[in-house]
Amino acid sequence: MRTLDTLQFDNTYARLPEAFHQAVFPTPYSDSCVVAFSPEAASLIDLAPTEASRPEFARQLTLSLPMPGSWPIAQAYAGHQFGSFVPELGDGRAILLGEAVGAQPHVWNRYRNLSARRWDLHLKGAGRTRFSRGFDGRAVLRSCIREYLASEAMEALGIPTSRAMAVLGSRDPVFRETPEPGAMLLRLAPSHLRFGSFEYFYHSRRLEELHQLADYAIGTHFPTLDRGESPYAGLLREVTLRTAELIAHWQAYGFTHGVMNTDNFSLLGFTLDYGPFGFIEAFNPGHVSNHSDHAGVYAFANQPQVGFFNLQCLVRALSPLLTREEAEEALAGYEPALGQCYLGLMADRLGLLHRRPEDEELIGDLLPRLEGVDYTLFFRELASLSTAGQAAPDPLFLSGIAPAPDAISPWLLRYQARLRAEASDDATRRAHMNRVNPRFILRNHHAQQAIELAMQGDYSGVASLHEVLRRPFDEQPGREAYSRPAPAGTPAPVISCSS
Ligand code: AMP
Ligand code: MG
Repeated sequence: MRTLDTLQFDNTYARLPEAFHQAVFPTPYSDSCVVAFSPEAASLIDLAPTEASRPEFARQLTLSLPMPGSWPIAQAYAGHQFGSFVPELGDGRAILLGEAVGAQPHVWNRYRNLSARRWDLHLKGAGRTRFSRGFDGRAVLRSCIREYLASEAMEALGIPTSRAMAVLGSRDPVFRETPEPGAMLLRLAPSHLRFGSFEYFYHSRRLEELHQLADYAIGTHFPTLDRGESPYAGLLREVTLRTAELIAHWQAYGFTHGVMNTDNFSLLGFTLDYGPFGFIEAFNPGHVSNHSDHAGVYAFANQPQVGFFNLQCLVRALSPLLTREEAEEALAGYEPALGQCYLGLMADRLGLLHRRPEDEELIGDLLPRLEGVDYTLFFRELASLSTAGQAAPDPLFLSGIAPAPDAISPWLLRYQARLRAEASDDATRRAHMNRVNPRFILRNHHAQQAIELAMQGDYSGVASLHEVLRRPFDEQPGREAYSRPAPAGTPAPVISCSS
């Protein structure tokens, strides 16, 4: 186990030419303390969990000194934001401290069994950089807590994501609509390359740098690509498939990202840049989690299509390195990959052992009937359905979950028949379903309660919620309240970009 002083650091990105980044140190707050710490995230880089209780830990991190070998930079990138191209964004409030090199690789994408030994240490809210564009370079406590809880919850659900090791709080105010406590989030990820990293060089016609970036990405992050074909075509094909699979996971688990700009899209295909995200509670395909997205551009049901738009932006940025046929062939893989992954995940959620052609229709017909039903609890409770008897299943099993069980009953009969057709065993299916259908997801009202406590200096709510979300598939006696939807009449939280 290592300490901050003995972490093994490198920074391959900092070795790229100056056009790619700015060397910059964090600007610490006048004080800082540990609000939350994830020992599981720390273990990815072999950092001893006892480090978090060392009095100097927070200060040392926010100064990033002395961490031998670390080479802090802000990365340059561009991006399509709500459809419009912004030529220079970059890390305006986050600093890549360096890559911590662990003793052994850790899996970050369970679906594809992808692992990493090197993890970017990324400090969000670390102060101004040359990309700050007049903003303050800071992040507020509430948004750091939300990202912390969400990343660790997504990991536990098996959805590829950046990780969160710590929230570091401060008494220094940060000004948004009102003064709020400032904070920093220490994020870990196998890479912070974004679709927008490529757009940055393409749209400014710096083709040599574009080439260099693509070679760096392939050499560092896609070493197993088939060398027999054009490596750039291989890169695009792989990114396309991973993006499709990521969005399939979001759709299957009811996650709305909120700001699917290309600067927030990871080249490696994991969930990146949590802002006004949300898990769907009462099912509504038009759910918009970002308060400022009035047109619903990034509504839940639009996510697959936005993912495709983002890939088209990436294709444009990579166009000097690809033939038209290579680009078209790669993009053509998107929809089938998303559909196949989504159907597989949903079939698992329904406890179907064997795939049948009619399953697509069964799954497709379910969603319209779930409107207003708690999306997470429906699947969890569905596991207790029995295949015995030919009558409509007792709608009581949905009590408290489905406002209008009649809307679902005909579908349940079909589902029961489908289960019987594969001789599904109730107990086996139940156990299987409970391993993929969470009891606990991050609900806004629980996050809000933990945040309000933390604003008063009590961090126990964040720790308790984190503890629950680490084991989303386990029944956790005594913690039932964390599984419940917000009481009727709870106002929707007002959450928008860049807080
Ligand atoms: P986000 O919405 O957090 O993904 O940020 C979009 C862009 O705005 C990125 O380039 C951020 O670095 C930048 N940005 C967001 N908030 C701030 C801030 N408070 N100070 C400086 N830059 C920011
Ligand atoms: Mg961002």
